[in-house]
Amino acid sequence: MKEHIFIGGAWPYANYRLHFGHLAALLPGDMIARYYRQKGAQVIYVSGSDCHGTPITQTAKKDGLSPEEVAQKYHDSFVKTFSDMDFSYDLYTLTMTDFHKSHVQEYIKKIAEHGYIYEKEEDENYCTSCERFVSDREIVGTCPVCGGQANGDQCDHCLSSLNATELISPCCKNCGNPTVLRKNKHLYFKLSKATKAIQKLLDQHKNVWRQTTVNETSKYLKQGLRDRALSRQIDWGIKLPFAGFDDKRMYVWFDALMGYLTAGEKVCQERGENFWDIMTNPATKCYYILGKDNIPFHTVILPGILEALNPKIKKPDMIIACEYVNAGGEKMSKSKGNLTTVDKLLEYFPSDSIRYFFMFNNPEKRDTSFSTSDFVDIHNKHLVGGYGNFVNRNLSFLQKRFNGVLPKQQISDDVRNFVLEEYKKIGNLIENGENRAAVEEMFAIIKYCNKYYDDCAPWTLYESNKAEFDKVTSNCLYLIANLANITSPLMPSAAKKVKALLGVNKNDWAEVTYDENIVLSDVSVLFNRVKLDDVKL
Ligand SMILES: [Zn+2]
Ligand SMILES: [Zn+2]
Repeated sequence: MKEHIFIGGAWPYANYRLHFGHLAALLPGDMIARYYRQKGAQVIYVSGSDCHGTPITQTAKKDGLSPEEVAQKYHDSFVKTFSDMDFSYDLYTLTMTDFHKSHVQEYIKKIAEHGYIYEKEEDENYCTSCERFVSDREIVGTCPVCGGQANGDQCDHCLSSLNATELISPCCKNCGNPTVLRKNKHLYFKLSKATKAIQKLLDQHKNVWRQTTVNETSKYLKQGLRDRALSRQIDWGIKLPFAGFDDKRMYVWFDALMGYLTAGEKVCQERGENFWDIMTNPATKCYYILGKDNIPFHTVILPGILEALNPKIKKPDMIIACEYVNAGGEKMSKSKGNLTTVDKLLEYFPSDSIRYFFMFNNPEKRDTSFSTSDFVDIHNKHLVGGYGNFVNRNLSFLQKRFNGVLPKQQISDDVRNFVLEEYKKIGNLIENGENRAAVEEMFAIIKYCNKYYDDCAPWTLYESNKAEFDKVTSNCLYLIANLANITSPLMPSAAKKVKALLGVNKNDWAEVTYDENIVLSDVSVLFNRVKLDDVKL
């Protein structure tokens, strides 16, 4: 039976353009998806744009657009950027589709039937000058945990998730006046009821998840899981399928987290498969790819939702949560104006190079910092001088001296064993979410290839010892074919180009070799050198 892999990439919020912090966090997902497909697994790799919630309504107001227009505009830009960056989602959708909305309503009804939803009157921030209840995102105040300035739902300083009513000295963001508390009727999700299941999930993954993920999750469990408001006093979002809540909408995080499920269902529907059979199969492996600010949503709230829907649904196995990429020693943020969009990078570098840089420098276990000179340096050294040079030195030489005719296959055992070992090593690293180490290992292959070439110096052999030249060149061509195949999850465009040149048609996670009957033509450089002075980010 085929191995089933579910991969959920975090849903970007449709209120900005993608910058390289998002990219660094999401790239591991594409690498994992491509690797598993190559390995022959049945992959469901989904994501989409998170389109509801207050910030989008605020942007809409500011820009004189409807929330739908704002969300659609950014969604379209995400689709283009992901496509330019060669992301291979099986489905990249958005939360505004009828499919998503109707399925979310279905799930919520089930969750209610299972006793996870209740009604409660609660104090809510009311702005007397705006004459309405204001949502958590529309208020600012002082964080009761750390004393920093915090939003109503989360403190960006200490990452505590907050109840808006706990905020000290809350003010309305719209008009700046202090807010008062008034009673309002709401629906609650009984997250506390899933405590045991979530604790069990953490216990099982203590040694699998990254330290930050374990720490964040433990923190929530230690504090005691609090039930979460499921309804919001807002008119932009999914309607609640219960009487008496027409003036409210579903809390955006429930809606967005359920996107993993609605998108998975959609993919399976199109493939003629049953999504729930796959998701309740204990052998299915589930990966979630995100930034560290989203950890509790994926290790606490999502497992809570899954438990409420059906305890048999697989909860996250692997949480690939990235730290931050800083720029100039500072956390990147819209307000600091130090965000570089992915589109900007694409003006200077091919997608493979951007993918390589942010995975080689992936903020897996600690924050990393971005600098243009590091980027240019790595592009020139690893890709132009390393990968590209090895391919080009061999192929151009054959084209020039031998009219592109390739030597017969004669692969040395040591070269072959090295390659076979790398498939195993890199495969294991990717499966365990150690993507950065996997990319370092890919770089080790690039170095091995160039060293082999330099040590054997085939350019000194072609006249004096043609037999030895053929042997060395055969090994080099074999290395090129496998280097392309192994780095294909990371640099798919270059891999495709190289494999086509050498007549490699197979796309398995296994040894490949070149087609000796191919005659090389149109050999061109794989990566072009970039000058630092030319890059204006
Ligand atoms: Zn705080
Ligand atoms: Zn106000």
